[in-house]
Amino acid sequence: MQNNSKKRWIVRIRKIILYAWPFILSLFVFLSIKFSIRNPPLIEHYYSKGIYPAIAKFLSFFSNIVPFSLWDVFWVLIILLIISGLILVLFKKIKPGWYILKTLQLLALFYSFFYIVWGYNYFRPKIEKRIGWQMPKTDSMIFRPILDSIIKQTNSNYISIALSDYSKIDTLVEESYRKNSAELGINYPNGRRRPKTMLFSSFYGELGLNGYFGPFFNEIHVNYYLLPLDYPFVLAHEKAHQFGITSEAEANFVAFVICIKSEDQRLKYSGYLSLLLYFLKDASHMKDYKEYFNKIDMRVISDFRFRQKYYQGLENKSLSKMQSAAYNSYLKVNNIEKGVKNYNQVVSLVISWYYNSNLNRIDYQVNQIIPGVLIRVDFHIGFKVEPKINLYFKEVLEDMTASGEIKLESTFDSLKKHSMPADFKYILIDRIMPNDYKLSGLENVTLALHRLSRLLCISDVKALQLDSTNTIEERVPITIDQPVERRISRLR
Ligand SMILES: [Zn+2]
Repeated sequence: MQNNSKKRWIVRIRKIILYAWPFILSLFVFLSIKFSIRNPPLIEHYYSKGIYPAIAKFLSFFSNIVPFSLWDVFWVLIILLIISGLILVLFKKIKPGWYILKTLQLLALFYSFFYIVWGYNYFRPKIEKRIGWQMPKTDSMIFRPILDSIIKQTNSNYISIALSDYSKIDTLVEESYRKNSAELGINYPNGRRRPKTMLFSSFYGELGLNGYFGPFFNEIHVNYYLLPLDYPFVLAHEKAHQFGITSEAEANFVAFVICIKSEDQRLKYSGYLSLLLYFLKDASHMKDYKEYFNKIDMRVISDFRFRQKYYQGLENKSLSKMQSAAYNSYLKVNNIEKGVKNYNQVVSLVISWYYNSNLNRIDYQVNQIIPGVLIRVDFHIGFKVEPKINLYFKEVLEDMTASGEIKLESTFDSLKKHSMPADFKYILIDRIMPNDYKLSGLENVTLALHRLSRLLCISDVKALQLDSTNTIEERVPITIDQPVERRISRLR
């Protein structure tokens, strides 16, 4: 008797497990997410750098063989399955309870599977922590020169991109990922990436979607109606998702670096243009916004206008708003506090990148003002590099002599005969404010503070580590155009 009831219990427990396992699994995933949010370094170590690359390699190996989107076909089949189940319920062919149970089981499985094959990447540390950046405060002092530089680069890289360039662009994007993966903390090659066209491009166009990553089959998708000028950037963005970068800001940032670090002008233009749009959005509240906007090349502006009109034509406003609201809550649930505004956070990432790459910068630029006679050399020395100008200047001279741009022999004929080397003197130009000008109270306070700081700080000769035996400090007055209120009069 006892044996029988034991058996019955075992059968009952088995039945429960058989029905409940998808829910148990999803409960486990749910709890592990709560744990992951608090432990990003563990996720980085075990999931993003351990399990995920293996999953990506495995899944993309299969999806890479199929030329069409498995993700899209999969969802069509699931929706058809749910609808046909509903029809069978209506015709009383299957029990409603059973149908609801199966549907819920399916949803629980999708939920768990999504996180297991990709979604845990949402809980890895932010990119600045992964790469080890210092994050500067984003202020206009840093923002303006970077905006200026992006405008210049967009203008100078202007090019028109053709549809026929697509397969070449894919190769170039891959090439750039291979070269720059170390700097971006990306695990290359991480499987295969075959760009696929969305099955319902025009519907996704109405939603305002240019591309997406399908995690179940590790596939990247690009909208068929995407404009060629956006293709390199969007492709690089979707590839970033495949590399386990979930945040939209980070994917935008990675796409930007991948595009501009390529030698190819099509990639550069697409990268700068896309970023310029994000920067202009942030700059639109600035008083001198127009001044910046006017610096943009007319051809680039006409690309902007065409682009805006084109996508507005594709978009269905209410559908796109719904999509945006849904994605907004989805991102917020997944640890992206800013929701869809996260796309625009690329601006602060790019600023940090400029800032951090400048910290260790040590390079120079030569400008021949009067060729061979007056040459301007600009040193770009980061905060973290010792400013040994004396030493670097010698290196610049070596470079320029080697390239034949200058000769280090004395220019005086009498000395040239004996091939005497030229001697060098450093002249530091010290700008002095003469007492001839009427300054406002605030300006006078600023100047007083400046004088005080000069007393307290080390001299420029020491700061630039120049050789004090051959340095001359020359004082040059600052001249200001000021109206003369009262002239001195001559007595007769
Ligand atoms: Zn994205």
